[in-house]
Amino acid sequence: MITTDICIIGAGPVGLFAVFEAGLLKMRCHLIDALPQVGGQLSEIYPHKPIYDIPGYPTIKAQELIDRQMEQIAPFHPTFTLGERVESLEKQSDDSYLIFGNEGTNIHAKVVVIAGGLGSFEPRKPDIPGLSTYEGKGVSYMVKNPELFRDRKVAIAGGGDSALDWAIFLSEIAQRVTLIHRSDNFRGAPDSAAKVFELAQAGKIDLLLSHNIHSVDGYGHLNRVGVVNKQQETSFIEVDALIPLFGLSPKLGAIANWGLNIDKSAIAVDTFDYSTNIERIYAIGDINTYPGKLKLILCGYHEAALMAQSAFKYVYPEQKLSFKYTTVNGINAF
Ligand SMILES: Cc1cc2nc3c(=O)[nH]c(=O)nc-3n(C[C@H](O)[C@H](O)[C@H](O)COP(=O)(O)OP(=O)(O)OC[C@H]3O[C@@H](n4cnc5c(N)ncnc54)[C@H](O)[C@@H]3O)c2cc1C
Repeated sequence: MITTDICIIGAGPVGLFAVFEAGLLKMRCHLIDALPQVGGQLSEIYPHKPIYDIPGYPTIKAQELIDRQMEQIAPFHPTFTLGERVESLEKQSDDSYLIFGNEGTNIHAKVVVIAGGLGSFEPRKPDIPGLSTYEGKGVSYMVKNPELFRDRKVAIAGGGDSALDWAIFLSEIAQRVTLIHRSDNFRGAPDSAAKVFELAQAGKIDLLLSHNIHSVDGYGHLNRVGVVNKQQETSFIEVDALIPLFGLSPKLGAIANWGLNIDKSAIAVDTFDYSTNIERIYAIGDINTYPGKLKLILCGYHEAALMAQSAFKYVYPEQKLSFKYTTVNGINAF
């Protein structure tokens, strides 16, 4: 069991900044995110796009902003559970919370901050008969730990950035990588597509363009993928793993059933401190709603600051909070 002062659900830019604001007040944070990396929408959807409305940066690439935020919160040593979705929470007799992840992680916290953005990103699953039978037995929709594919025969399906990037990366460590795509053109970055063609020429990636997967089979564990081309000819590939990468779609999911006031798929909050209708649970960033709400990173940062000032009373009930500028107090690492 992980014990912390504040459990932050969502490690996007707003969840990360909440660690900083909490850290200034000596509150420890644990973050849990369904994605295998931090950064929320910025790292998952538009890492290479420049952002122009972050104060102090005339322009900054999305991934660079996340990298800088990670550097900024390092003195407060936040801890992370990545690649795990929060499904439920349970109030304890002392009013603290137990938060449960879908892969068995339990987090005990005095305060819960939901910084879940558009919701947890769920993989789009292709319609292949029997695919779900092999989930966790050869089929995975995200690469959480690339080492699991070392010296394995891996098939990747998809034509976007994730499919290209992982095909390139895994071609270095896997025994064999087959990239299966239904069209002749990739949707992903032209640089990555060019690299994939180069690796295919060099014999490091097997490319199956204009192919669709029609079947999966194995004995308990996946070991064969059937594909069909435009001429309706079928063939089979021996594999240890299949990674369908057809994008992610956000879903509010189980959070909608926690008794929070939900307004059009967002959590209604009090703008005094971004608290929800349930004591000790706050909602900040894209996931909340209030009159005039703007889904902007800088608005989420503001919400994180006010949330931290308010949450202090639950973490240190016996102390009086006195507001101090960072120019006066500095950053006191712990
Ligand atoms: C293409 C694009 C361009 C944009 N450009 C700009 C811009 O120029 N300027 C600007 O200010 N904003 C921009 N935005 C909006 C900006 O990205 C969002 O406002 C910002 O990402 C919100 O941050 P967040 O931390 O609230 O949520 P997110 O970034 O969405 O992060 C939320 C995280 O919570 C996780 N999560 C959700 N539910 C759960 C759960 N149950 N369990 C575990 N984890 C969970 C998700 O996996 C996700 O990683 C843009 C958005 C897009 C899509």
